[in-house]
Amino acid sequence: MATIPDIQSFVFDQPARRVVFGVGALAKLPEEVKRLGTKALVLSTPEQKGDAERVVEQLGDVAVGIFTDAVMHVPIDTARKARSEAARLGADVYVTVGGGSTTGLGKVIALETGQPIVAVPTTFAGSEMTPIYGITEGALKKTARDNRVLPRTVIYDPVLTLTLPVHIAGPSGMNAIAHSVEALYAPDGNPIISLMAAESIRALAEALPVIVSEPANLKARADGLYGAWLAGICLGSTSMSIHHKLCHTLGGTFNLPHADVHTVILPHATAYNRDAAPEAMRRIAGALGSKDAAQGIFDLIKKINGPTALKDIGMPADGLDKAAKLATENPYWNPRPIEYTAIRELLQRAYDGTRP
Ligand code: NAD
Repeated sequence: MATIPDIQSFVFDQPARRVVFGVGALAKLPEEVKRLGTKALVLSTPEQKGDAERVVEQLGDVAVGIFTDAVMHVPIDTARKARSEAARLGADVYVTVGGGSTTGLGKVIALETGQPIVAVPTTFAGSEMTPIYGITEGALKKTARDNRVLPRTVIYDPVLTLTLPVHIAGPSGMNAIAHSVEALYAPDGNPIISLMAAESIRALAEALPVIVSEPANLKARADGLYGAWLAGICLGSTSMSIHHKLCHTLGGTFNLPHADVHTVILPHATAYNRDAAPEAMRRIAGALGSKDAAQGIFDLIKKINGPTALKDIGMPADGLDKAAKLATENPYWNPRPIEYTAIRELLQRAYDGTRP
């Protein structure tokens, strides 16, 4: 395929998946599960055990068990325990009720067995739309892509997000926006993904401030979930760049909270690429209703009372040199070349919480 400047060329390849979206959509869970299997294992975190138990009850005879030990970043021991419980029960379909941590646990079971997942997301992280899975062994999280782990059916019911506290909901939505921002300048993007990315930023930027000021506003929760869905597709369909590299480095090395790191870094990573990706910046700024993409993101974080400084979320000041070194070794592709000095400066601004 010839590449001619100014004429786009791309590959658009979306694996089939089914989305059931709406207030009360959870009522459809039994019929959706029965399309895929007869013995469902329900997964959740310990905090969402109550949600998982209600789902087991709702599934009746189709549910063969419950596993409520999901935790952030899928530790290998948790993955082993969940896999052996699934084998012991003879499960043939997995229902994940929760955020990226729970979906992630379902994915590592599906990776081994090839069996389907019905995901019921309750945060805005977007993991349910991606073929990306991760397993953590020791302090090292390894991630990879495999279409076997992509949930076959996703049920988005905004009612389930009503219990998500606003201090988790806001950063979780910023995590989703980060996927869309990087999809807009990804080397393997395409026009359809760009439409989804811009629309998801628009939807989340409108919904998140309302969710934070009126936590019981169901329309805002639904709009946020819609934005998260689109952002998840963007993440799963393209390669990520400097923003995600920095977040993986900081989260993995200094054990910082996942969604908060994404929130703090995003305005600065966006500013880093400001001159190198003008078309993406125009679309991000347009979706935010702002003159400048990075400034618009920073303003949005302020509006949702999200974290703006690494120093406030547990980053040690003496870790910045190490983080800059790690993030510039084996860098991901990025519109602007990755240079140690510029990345060290970016991290300093993110540490201090300076406006980008
Ligand atoms: P999470 O799943 O870790 O949830 C955070 C906390 O909120 C948990 O205690 C959870 O039980 C609780 N919670 C979730 N929904 C709730 C609700 N509606 N009401 C009350 N409490 C609720 O958070 P997350 O940000 O969704 O996921 C983070 C993890 O997902 C990280 O490990 C990250 O790497 C991974 N992730 C993976 C992908 C991917 O594509 N593979 C994408 C995004 C995130």
